[in-house]
Amino acid sequence: MSFRVMPLAVLLFLASGCGREPAGGEEPSAPDRARDYFSDANIAQFATRHLELDLAVDFDRRVLKGHVIHQMECLQPGAESIVLDSRGLHIDRIQLAAGGAAAVDLPFQLAPADPVRGAALHISLPAAYACAGGFELKIDYRTSPQASAIMWLAPEQTAGGRHPFMFTQSQAIHARSWLPLQDTPAVRTTYEAVIRTPPELLAVMSADNDAQAPRNGRYRFLMPQPIPSYLLALAVGNLQFSPLGDNTGVYAEPEILPAAAWEFADTQDMLEVAEAIYGPYQWGRYDLLILPPSFPFGGMENPRLSFITPSLLAGDRSLVSVIAHELAHSWSGNLVSNRTWRDIWLNEGTTSYLEARLMEALYGKRRADEERLLTYQSLLESLQTVPLAMQPLAPVFESGDPDEGQQGLEYAKGQMLLEHLEALFGRDTFDRFMAGYFDHFAFQAISTEQFLDYIDEHLLQARPGIYSRDDLQEWLYQPGLPAMMSVPHSDNLDAAAADAQAWASGELPVDKLSKKNSWSPQAAIYFIKALPAGLSEDRLAQLDRALGLSATQNAEIARAWFIEVAKRRHLPAYAGMREHLGRFGRTRLIEPVYRELVANRRDAGLAAEIFAQARSAYHPLTIAAIEPLLPDHNLQ
Ligand SMILES: [Zn+2]
Repeated sequence: MSFRVMPLAVLLFLASGCGREPAGGEEPSAPDRARDYFSDANIAQFATRHLELDLAVDFDRRVLKGHVIHQMECLQPGAESIVLDSRGLHIDRIQLAAGGAAAVDLPFQLAPADPVRGAALHISLPAAYACAGGFELKIDYRTSPQASAIMWLAPEQTAGGRHPFMFTQSQAIHARSWLPLQDTPAVRTTYEAVIRTPPELLAVMSADNDAQAPRNGRYRFLMPQPIPSYLLALAVGNLQFSPLGDNTGVYAEPEILPAAAWEFADTQDMLEVAEAIYGPYQWGRYDLLILPPSFPFGGMENPRLSFITPSLLAGDRSLVSVIAHELAHSWSGNLVSNRTWRDIWLNEGTTSYLEARLMEALYGKRRADEERLLTYQSLLESLQTVPLAMQPLAPVFESGDPDEGQQGLEYAKGQMLLEHLEALFGRDTFDRFMAGYFDHFAFQAISTEQFLDYIDEHLLQARPGIYSRDDLQEWLYQPGLPAMMSVPHSDNLDAAAADAQAWASGELPVDKLSKKNSWSPQAAIYFIKALPAGLSEDRLAQLDRALGLSATQNAEIARAWFIEVAKRRHLPAYAGMREHLGRFGRTRLIEPVYRELVANRRDAGLAAEIFAQARSAYHPLTIAAIEPLLPDHNLQ
């Protein structure tokens, strides 16, 4: 056997094995709030403690091929089969080794694929196997070219245009499409990896990247801190590195590296501010990886190496709140994780709160309040569209798709809850509470109810009479928003909204408006959103010329403008809108524009046509978000 055997592992072969029930986890009483309904893994019986990956990256076939070794622990005597999550994997061979004994081949079976969860991989242990500690499970496999976690990009889809690129996006339940594993945030593992690539490319992972590693097509990684599966991450491309601070830096294609290093120059300061409030950064280095435009999100908090959309490169550092967000996940999410996908607000809501705090510390209360008000506005909008059943912070979430559950409501509503608590208890008290919370649950996955018990004991009861457990439960278990809450306020944005009214009514001439270049990008967005209905094509065209809206390099201003363009059917800006939809693949920037095109009742066909042209450059998650909006899914 070529793979390493755990020194303490013991495998006992006993003459037994009759009459045992198939393993698969006990059926819990429903609804079981601690159960992950989106994983088939039998984690009550076995737990992976460490993963060893050895994968070759084949750009021609668009597959990863190699093996993974699970260092597993048996938790329940009598368990005789292991169930792992998988999606679209081709499994070649599975072997078991333990206690220095010769490795044995294990029979296995892939269950019929569930459209959301994928195909459960059932692995039978030897009939005489007795659960007695640790063992190793080696699985030889390859991925499908359609793996839901992996985006393969042709050279022309990169900034440089000469080399291919690939990246993974494991959250929520896509890790199972690039390795068979217990794909649930309830399980944390350390990992190591050998990644084999074409020699001219560099591989990076959510691990101990070495910017100085010789570029030879064979890269080794170690992630010594245990992480949930959704944080496993790999990217390969023509990447170079630029340091930003003592333990921060940025990886990007050389064509955009200088712009990225300039845009994100404050990353080291952000890290130090976060440590001062929330306690030591636990992950060693914090680097950024700037991906090609098809990356579906603003950022993904892969530990030690956040994956970042290039749409943040506005040239004015106005969109760095996304960096503050991903960095903040180093505490909320990566350090203290959601136990199941119904608890994701503990991850995203808390992070959105931390993000606002970091923005305030670095750029001042005025800017942070502007961003808070935009967040609140987005929350009010999402309360109009998210089904009531998914509006509680911790909804009953037992079916559907974890990528679609609350449609982002959990970010803003969670942030508003923590801001309300901060306002009630005072910033110093609340900061101490949060730092203690991160320390208490470090490297654990917790449920909403564990959070509730902890905050009840350490904040609510410690300062009685301010806020009750019932008050808090209204946020967690009821739709909408509580009547009593702290609402963000921004004089700047109020002024921008007043300008929109004044310009629309003719009181404020456009040349006066265009002199308001002191507007922050956030104020410009608020202005656009505040424009009243019924403006003529001429007036909108005048506004576009005066403010340079269609030509803006700021992706968030462009988003706000092209949503209005589509909603109002402002045809003179349709060329710019088409360019926007082809330029970005980040779902947030384009999905609402498609949505408005369909909703204006005249341009559904146009939306389908633009989508068909741009589709090959979009990520599968982006396609999945937009395609159902379109009238004819077959137009491709
Ligand atoms: Zn986040």
